[in-house]
Amino acid sequence: MSSATTAENHQLMEVSAVGTPEPIVRYKNVSKSFGDLEVLKQIDMDIAPGEKVALIGPSGSGKTTVARMLMTLEKPTSGVIEVNGEPLWHKEVNGKLVPADQKHLRRVRANIGMVFQQYNLFPHMTILRNCTEAPIHVQGVPKDQAIKRATEMLERVGLGDKLDAYPSQLSGGQQQRVAIARAVVMRPKVMLFDEVTSALDPELVGEVLAVIKDLAREGNMAMMLITHEMDFAYDVADRVVFMDQGYIVEQGPPKQVLENPQTERLQSFIHRFR
Ligand code: ADP
Repeated sequence: MSSATTAENHQLMEVSAVGTPEPIVRYKNVSKSFGDLEVLKQIDMDIAPGEKVALIGPSGSGKTTVARMLMTLEKPTSGVIEVNGEPLWHKEVNGKLVPADQKHLRRVRANIGMVFQQYNLFPHMTILRNCTEAPIHVQGVPKDQAIKRATEMLERVGLGDKLDAYPSQLSGGQQQRVAIARAVVMRPKVMLFDEVTSALDPELVGEVLAVIKDLAREGNMAMMLITHEMDFAYDVADRVVFMDQGYIVEQGPPKQVLENPQTERLQSFIHRFR
């Protein structure tokens, strides 16, 4: 290959590398009301494959509702949410979007994993079984493979010596790490973390954030991180999205959003954490 061709190829690769990839998640003009209360107002947001997006904002600004709609726990009042190029709440029939059935929802939702504030492990199952149930029974992974996958993941979150323990024998931080492992063994393309440390004693917060940071470094899994931990958002996120009163008010790289807020609303929000 001549050097000119190599250079051209290199240039082509760079173009495709910087070209915008198809988003793994896309909110298009999404609004959500509970009764008369409109809690999300025409939200547009894309998440690229592997991108880590921190969602910050005051309590009640709509962050959890954004996540819950993606997890199909709430339905948008209007607008479309796409996952991996497919509408989530709708199905395309003859070029028109019609409401999706449960089967379609389940299939598209399989791309998404979620960890909440409350870890909700199965209390009567060992830690290992908590992490093998869904791969075996939902995804049809052979039992030996599911055990191998879960064991590796539990080792990775620092719980390799607790496989046979029950949730009640673990600390809150350890239980939350199991909840993370349980979601990640399903190999989702997107992980949602909704204030996963806010129910924990302060001394247990660090170990859970460290596990998420470790997973974030791997790169291929996109993450939506709802958090009040600004240092964590700064370290982990590629982009920080600030919400207030149902709107996306500001977004950008962590340094820009957290160190140089443009709006008075974000300035006063950040001020409260400094
Ligand atoms: P955040 O996560 O930013 O704290 P939420 O998405 O939890 O915000 O809530 C946004 C608004 O929606 C709040 O005013 C909240 O009271 C309201 N809300 C959330 N879920 C429901 C619900 N199921 N029914 C009625 N109102 C709700």
